[in-house]
Amino acid sequence: MKILVLNCGSSSLKYQLIDMTDESVIAKGLCERIGINGSLLTHQKIGSDKIEIKSPMPTHSEAVKLVFDALMNNEYGVIKSMDEVTAIGHRVLHGGTKFTESIIVDDDVKTAIRECFDLGPLHNPANLMGIEACEKVAANKKNVAVFDTSFGMSMEEKAYLYAIPYEYYEKYGIRRYGFHGTSHMFVSRETINFGKLKDNAKVIVCHLGNGGSVSCSIGGKCVDTSMGLTPLEGLIMGTRSGDIDPAIVQYICNKENKTVNEVLDILNKKSGVLGMSGGISNDFRDIEEAEKQGNHLAHIALEAFKYRVAKYIGAYIVAMNGVDAISFTAGVGENDKRSRKEICEYLKFLGVEIDDNENSVRSEKKLISTKDSKIKIFIIPTNEELAIARETKRLVG
Ligand code: ADP
Repeated sequence: MKILVLNCGSSSLKYQLIDMTDESVIAKGLCERIGINGSLLTHQKIGSDKIEIKSPMPTHSEAVKLVFDALMNNEYGVIKSMDEVTAIGHRVLHGGTKFTESIIVDDDVKTAIRECFDLGPLHNPANLMGIEACEKVAANKKNVAVFDTSFGMSMEEKAYLYAIPYEYYEKYGIRRYGFHGTSHMFVSRETINFGKLKDNAKVIVCHLGNGGSVSCSIGGKCVDTSMGLTPLEGLIMGTRSGDIDPAIVQYICNKENKTVNEVLDILNKKSGVLGMSGGISNDFRDIEEAEKQGNHLAHIALEAFKYRVAKYIGAYIVAMNGVDAISFTAGVGENDKRSRKEICEYLKFLGVEIDDNENSVRSEKKLISTKDSKIKIFIIPTNEELAIARETKRLVG
């Protein structure tokens, strides 16, 4: 069985064709500048060089058509006809409260995705465009929507409700949803399988990339997660502030004569380690480099980042009344041994011990705690495309 996975942005479309017999990627690529002059498809048959196809893509439909053509091309394609593709899995950012699981797309699902445009204004319209383009270009294929928010739907009211007037939840659905859900779902399940843990193991996943979030789950069911109504809540990220006193928004508005929207833009795009370091970079490698050169603000930004992650881990151990394993994933979590080590140092009193040799790796699925460590610590590389493909297979298989 072959599954096509699509991740559509407003002017881009990323894809992977995955052979589910061994879960290997057989082709992948990216359409850029959809709806803009200079549209470009970069396609790669795995094992061969990337090729570039310049062709107009006024809408996502032309982009999907070009992807299908590339996949079937005699020279650089990997299939003879689209009949070989069983179904298409789509990453969809927001499913609101309606979707606790991935689902085969029908008219009701599309209406619901549309109803969540307000909650995911940058992503949901593009995700829907991708689905509708596939319906147009490949009418006989089943489309499956895999929501980034569905993992968080198992949170209890005490975890997902904000302490604001209840009517705002009723009228506008203001609650904590959590994002990176596909990654947290994948990594928490992989932790249980790879670590040979019991089915109802208590797992904390630290997804530390440019965007970052921590989740805790029991048997793969989310108990709590650090992002909220939007991805702004929680950890200190590349450019996002994470948790702050909300009164700061009003204070900056008044002092700097800015609108709420302008300040929110600053909190989303100019804060995090970028803002704390005095504007060095949102890339953790640059901040680490500046710290090495003796830059104090870079040092503080990294210290604050790790401290915040550790605080969330502590809170989530309490939320679950214990923990069996903690996994690190995404760009920083998979690659940065120092962050992993220093975050875990906060957990020493709980009997956590990192094995420095085992920890000296990048992007490898492995146990990095010592034999005596009271809590198992893992690196589990995330793979959202494979998670989407597995969900799609589960629903259509
Ligand atoms: P996102 O998907 O949220 O854009 P990624 O998961 O790709 O982010 O992570 C990107 C981040 O990972 C960047 O800030 C980058 O600096 C960081 N990163 C990658 N490799 C390393 C490394 N060796 N040490 C520290 N940070 C790293």
